[in-house]
Amino acid sequence: MLESLKSFYQSGKTLPEDFRRLYLEGLRREIFKREDDILHSLYSDLGKPAAEAYASEVSFVLSEIKYILKNLHRWMKPQKVKTPLMFWPAKSTVLPSPKGVVLILGPWNYPFQLLMAPFIGALAAGNCAVLKSSRYAPSTSKIMEEIVKNCFEPGHCWFVSGDEEGARKLVEQNWDHIFFTGSTETGRKIMLKAAESLTPVTLELGGKNPCIVFDDADIKISAERIAWGKFFNAGQTCIAPDTVYCSQNIKEKFIEYLRDTVTRFYGVSPEKSPDYGRIVNSQHVKRLASYLENGCGVISGGRYDEESLYFEPTIIDDVSESAAIMKEEIFGPILPVIGFKHTDDLITELGKKPSPLALYIFSRNKKLQKKIMQALTSGSVGINETIKQGASHHLPFGGIGESGTGMYHGKASFDCFTHFKSVLSSGFTGPGFHYPPYGKTVNLLKKAARIFY
Ligand code: NAD
Repeated sequence: MLESLKSFYQSGKTLPEDFRRLYLEGLRREIFKREDDILHSLYSDLGKPAAEAYASEVSFVLSEIKYILKNLHRWMKPQKVKTPLMFWPAKSTVLPSPKGVVLILGPWNYPFQLLMAPFIGALAAGNCAVLKSSRYAPSTSKIMEEIVKNCFEPGHCWFVSGDEEGARKLVEQNWDHIFFTGSTETGRKIMLKAAESLTPVTLELGGKNPCIVFDDADIKISAERIAWGKFFNAGQTCIAPDTVYCSQNIKEKFIEYLRDTVTRFYGVSPEKSPDYGRIVNSQHVKRLASYLENGCGVISGGRYDEESLYFEPTIIDDVSESAAIMKEEIFGPILPVIGFKHTDDLITELGKKPSPLALYIFSRNKKLQKKIMQALTSGSVGINETIKQGASHHLPFGGIGESGTGMYHGKASFDCFTHFKSVLSSGFTGPGFHYPPYGKTVNLLKKAARIFY
């Protein structure tokens, strides 16, 4: 498979803009054609409500294609840059070039979007690609496989599904770039493997995203936006608020609004709501249930059913910092609400934790927003809002430290799969004073440095 991709790439077919447009447009047509199949498969894999699935997976991917097609011509253009006077009469150009043959590995939580969005970037940048989906989203994998088969020649792009063993073997091959979305633990393994061959990697990983609610926030709106970002896709979103740190003065009121909001969103029996998703598999239901076993205070929710993969939107407090739920990425619909008294103490505590993918600040105070943003490192920030920063093609998306390395979405996707080749081009005329024997050249260089620098 890899040989055929390499020879396809080396044939130069993927280089012209028209070729890239043709396939991006073909992919767009096929997605429109199969949109209902995609929604059904996302329902079958994760019980995703159609509105959530369309907005966060199908529509996001379509909008990325549109945005990239609109800008591709400009992004592909070689950029003429200045040349230092000393190198006259040479000319300098930065040539956006594809990286080559790339591997894209995806997780199960947004199985369509998280494979297709980087794929679009790879195609736009002129690469050949192999897509590897998660085995925990089998229906969506099947549809994606069909889409890729219908739209691409086998040497251009391949789709594979499979388990961790297969994924490990794939990673061991000789790629020009590996783009991975998944857990921090797997990301670490991939980076170690890629280091052996110095293969560049983009790692889109996980983490615990803190959400801080200050005294001066609009409590009702904050509760709504946090509940929406948290319980969307039943909490299985990499940028979902993980834990709320709420000013002690408003904590009680905030929790009251939060509970009301959950009831307004999903009714008194969320298991009957068509707008509430399911957990991916029973192991994850068990993992989430184990967080509730160790005596934390369940304020609302807490019910689950391993068979139907249902886990109620759950709010907890009184959690000890040493509890597993305060250390591991929750990645499910359990929201701890922790009270805090002093902002500086909270900053110190959060500053000790690994850098998250997202940080959320709820406050009207611009100085305070700035202070928190400057004091805490994070991949992205949402101010008085949750998760939307991850769905704009005008904002590069990615983590920092343990939450990942590298960015994509919009122009950043094109850049991610592009090598910006520096070209200095000269003719056969020009001075030769820099050749040996150097004689007094160093004096000339010193004088020039004083004039020019
Ligand atoms: P995962 O790390 O278990 O698996 C992701 C992919 O890697 C799968 O395709 C899997 O088959 C493959 N894989 C597993 N072991 C591998 C290995 N040793 N070598 C190569 N590939 C291997 O992650 P998951 O459970 O599918 O997804 C959940 C995690 O993904 C959460 O931590 C979440 O925060 C994170 N995530 C991050 C983003 C982001 O954009 N940063 C988005 C969604 C999910």
